[in-house]
Amino acid sequence: MEFYREISNAFEEMRQTRRFLHMYPELSFQESKTAAFIAAQYDAMGISYEPNFGGGYGLVARIKGAKPGKTIALRADFDALPIQDQKEVPYRSQTPNVSHACGHDGHTAMLLTVARVLKKHEHELTGNYVFIHQPAEEHPPGGAKDMINAGCLNGVDAIFGTHLWSLFDSGHVYTAQGPLMAAASNFKITLIGKGGHGGAPQTSVDAIALTATVIQQLQQIISRRLNPLSPAVLSIGALEAGETFNIIAEKAILKGTVRVFDIATRTEIYDEMSRILKGLCLSAGASYELDIIEGYPPVINDDRCAQFLHDFAYSVPAVVDSHFIEPLMIGEDFAYYLEQVPGAFFFTGAKPKSGIAYPHHHGKFDFDEEAMIAGAQTMLGTVLKYQET
Ligand code: MN
Repeated sequence: MEFYREISNAFEEMRQTRRFLHMYPELSFQESKTAAFIAAQYDAMGISYEPNFGGGYGLVARIKGAKPGKTIALRADFDALPIQDQKEVPYRSQTPNVSHACGHDGHTAMLLTVARVLKKHEHELTGNYVFIHQPAEEHPPGGAKDMINAGCLNGVDAIFGTHLWSLFDSGHVYTAQGPLMAAASNFKITLIGKGGHGGAPQTSVDAIALTATVIQQLQQIISRRLNPLSPAVLSIGALEAGETFNIIAEKAILKGTVRVFDIATRTEIYDEMSRILKGLCLSAGASYELDIIEGYPPVINDDRCAQFLHDFAYSVPAVVDSHFIEPLMIGEDFAYYLEQVPGAFFFTGAKPKSGIAYPHHHGKFDFDEEAMIAGAQTMLGTVLKYQET
């Protein structure tokens, strides 16, 4: 209980840290000042750390408890987005067109607070604690992979992390066994026909007519070719083709996204896409290019860790309620950590008290700062209690 009280007592400081970061956001792979700020915090706490972890701006700090036990990691990301801050608040972003519109400022403030409380109790702790401050979550290939390759998970038995979520009730925590978030990838299809006069279609290969067939067929992949028990999305979000009334378009470009919860399904979808494109282009006398822009793998929680977190969260003072949820079709590079070690990611509900919640990645996005108490207490309690499992 003492630990929890120390988190709630540190709320004002945690909020100031969050607001400072909020005012000075930095884009993915450019977070030099944010990294220096985090390093200065660890200097002040007297916790040893390694900066520039994995060649980027990542930082890994460690606390070694007095008694031997498990080594448990917590991770927070700290990059911002290329979005103009549209909020009228004193802590509004001072950088035009860059803002913490996803709450990573809050993640960093929570993790620093957890580290501060654990450091105070170093002499009575069992096990070791690793604090992973990760840059560049928003921009694939992301910051996680390089940090893992550089060894941030060496010796780690389990990892936990959270994302504040403005659309979920404040102070509630949400997780899932197995898939929690999707693997997102983008694709670009270029269809190449043969231009010509609109009045003489027989002399050309119409890329627009071909596009119509291609879209119809691609939409059949999910409904007719995949196992209905494998959830997947295939959306086409952009289409560019043609010039004017009477010219047959030579080229068409389609851009879209594929989201799944397992990589095998993704491979299957892209294989089907290639087959369809090959067949339709052969029949039309056209050719195609398919470019796939890989995103993160799916976030798959360890069943045991997720159950543990879900059950344990009921006992955390600032947590109102604990829920299992259906997975969300958004991506997160926390996925890479979970490919290496067991663990669980969870959402900390942070709907603003006003009741007006803007989604993440919106210029008016904000969250209930008091939810950081629930998030930080859950992280802290989870790593301590996990020692006993
Ligand atoms: Mn995010």
